[in-house]
Amino acid sequence: VYPGSSVLSFGTAGCNLGCKFCQNWDISKSREIERLSAQAMPDEIAEVAAQLGCQSVAFTYNDPIIWSEYAIETSKACHARGIKTVAVTAGYITEQARADFFEHIDAANIDLKAFTEEFYYRITLSHLQPVLETLKWLKQETDVWFEITNLVIPQANDNDSEFQQMCDWILKEVGPDVPLHFSAFHPDFRMRDRGGTPPETLVRAREIALAAGLKYVYTGNVNDVARQSTYCPHCQQTLIERNWYQLGKYALRGHRCGYCDTEIAGHFSDKPGDWGQKRLPVDIQAILKKNAASQSGNTEPQKGPSTMQTNQSPQIIELSSDQEQALLQQAAAVVAGTVTRSRPVDVPLGDLQDTTVSGAFVSLKRQKQLRSCCGSFGKPQPLGQALQQAAVRAAKDDPRFPPVSPSELAHLDLEVWLLSGLEAVPEQGADRVEAVIVGQHGLQIQADGRSGLLLPGVPLDHGWDAEEFLNQTCIKAGLPPTAWKDPGTTLMRFQGISCAARLAELVDLSTETQVKTILGQREFAQYLQYIQSTVDALLKGQVPSYYCDAVSDTNLQGVALLLSRTGTDEELILSKWALKQTFPMQSTVFSLCQ
Ligand code: SF4
Repeated sequence: VYPGSSVLSFGTAGCNLGCKFCQNWDISKSREIERLSAQAMPDEIAEVAAQLGCQSVAFTYNDPIIWSEYAIETSKACHARGIKTVAVTAGYITEQARADFFEHIDAANIDLKAFTEEFYYRITLSHLQPVLETLKWLKQETDVWFEITNLVIPQANDNDSEFQQMCDWILKEVGPDVPLHFSAFHPDFRMRDRGGTPPETLVRAREIALAAGLKYVYTGNVNDVARQSTYCPHCQQTLIERNWYQLGKYALRGHRCGYCDTEIAGHFSDKPGDWGQKRLPVDIQAILKKNAASQSGNTEPQKGPSTMQTNQSPQIIELSSDQEQALLQQAAAVVAGTVTRSRPVDVPLGDLQDTTVSGAFVSLKRQKQLRSCCGSFGKPQPLGQALQQAAVRAAKDDPRFPPVSPSELAHLDLEVWLLSGLEAVPEQGADRVEAVIVGQHGLQIQADGRSGLLLPGVPLDHGWDAEEFLNQTCIKAGLPPTAWKDPGTTLMRFQGISCAARLAELVDLSTETQVKTILGQREFAQYLQYIQSTVDALLKGQVPSYYCDAVSDTNLQGVALLLSRTGTDEELILSKWALKQTFPMQSTVFSLCQ
C-alpha cells in the first residue's frame, strides 16, 4: 500500500492471543498500562498524522481488535482528513464483530501464524478456523486491501507440506493477488529454545508459494533485496525494488507494469514516497502543546526534561564490599518476601538509600538461564526505591515468565545492576560501533515507537562484539538488526555496576519458604472458581490466564481434576502424581485444564 509513504504507527497494551513467540510481549503482555502509556484522543492522532504528512495511520504492536472502539473512532477522524488506516492483526475476531471493525479500515495485514490447529491451540492459545473465516470474509464481503504474513518458526510451522497446504488454501479461497510475506522468527518471550529462522527456509517457502500460483510473495525480517522486491507477474520485470523500507527502482505507471502494462494488485500513488528507512518517535502531546503555544504566540521551547534528556543523569558510583552485600541482601529479602507473601526483613542501606541512580535492575537466574529480570531506567530516582521496585517486579511481574514460586528460591542466583551515566551516543551510522565498549556500556535504542535495552553484562554472557551487541539491542526492541545505523534511531549508552550471589546465601530460606502447602478454604474456593472459568474459556476458544493471582503457587505431589457434565453421568478425571519429586501446582493445573 502506497510504497515509500510515511505511516504513523501506534498501539495500546494487551492482546487476545497468547503467542509464546510474541515479539511485542512487553506491550501485548504489559501489566503496566498506566505507567507506560501516553494519552492520545482519536482526533489528536489524526491531527498529528496530518501535520506530519503521513498518508496513513497504522494500528499495530498489539492487536487492535481488542481496542476496536478506539481504532474505529481514530479511523473516522483520519478519514475526515483524507488519511487511510491500516490494521495489523491476527484476524482472530468473531463473525458478529468483524463488520463493525473492518468497515472503518482501509487496509490490513493478517498474521496467518500457521496452518494447523495444533500450532494455533498450543502456541498461540487460539484457533485457526476463525482466522481463515476472517480471510475469506475479507475477500468475499469487503473491499479492504489485505496482505498475509506468516512468521516461520523452526520446528513449529516450517515444513514444506504445511507451506503447500497453506498456499493452496490461499489460492483457492483468497486468490492469487493477495501478497504473502514469509517472515523470519527470532527467539523471544517464551520461545527461546531455538534459533532464528534460516534464510533458506524462507526462500523455500517463497518458492512453494510461487509454484502454487500466488503472484506476490516476499521474505521479511532478513536482508534479501531480490525477494523483498515486487515483480510483474506477466513479464517478470522488477517493478519496485525494496531493501527493507528503502525503495530503489520504481517502474509502475499508476497501477500498471511500466513494461507490459499488466495491472498490478495493490494501492499505489502516482509517485512513490521517499520516506525510506527513517523512523521518527512521535510524542503526540508534545506536538499538540507546541501547536497551542505557537498559536498563542509563545514560541519558546518547552522546558523540562524529555524522556531521553540526560544532562542530569547521575554518574557511576563505586560500591564497597559491605555496600554490595547490603544491596544484595535487601534485594533478596524483597524477592523472597514477595514470593512467599511475607513481610521482607528490612536491610539498612545506609548512605546508599538516597543515592540517586538512573536505574536499577534485579535479575534472577537458574543454572545460568534467565528466570526473570526487571527494573526501571531513565528517570533519576533514589536507589532504595529503585531497588525495591525492581525486586518486587522480578519476583512476580516479568511478563515473559510465570511468577517465581517459593520452591524455586533455593535454586536461584540473584544479580543487582545499578545504572548511571546515561548519555546520547553522538556518533552516527557505522561509527557507532566505535562508541560502544563491551563490558562497560549498556545500550538503549529507540526508533519507530519501539525501545529496547540491554544491560552491560549481556554481551559478556554471550560473547558478542560491539556490532553484535548493537544488532541484538535492535532485535530486543523489535527493530531490524541494523536499525542502529539509521539516522532516525536514537542510541543511548550508559554504565552499570553489578553484584551477584546465590539467593540462598542472602536470606534464611528455611523461614522464608515456610508457606502453606495446602490452600485455605477461601483460597481453595477461589482457585476452584478460576479452574472452572479456565476450562470454560478453553472450551469456547477464548484465551484464559495461565495463572491464578488469588492464590500462591506451591508444590504438590498429586493433583486430580474431575469434570462432570451437568445432568449426565459423564465424568472425566485427569490427574498427575509424583511419588518422589514434587511439581508446581499452578502450571500443572493449567495444563490439566488444557
Ligand atoms: S497476536 Fe500474538 S504475536 Fe501478536 S501481539 Fe498478540 S500475542 Fe503477540
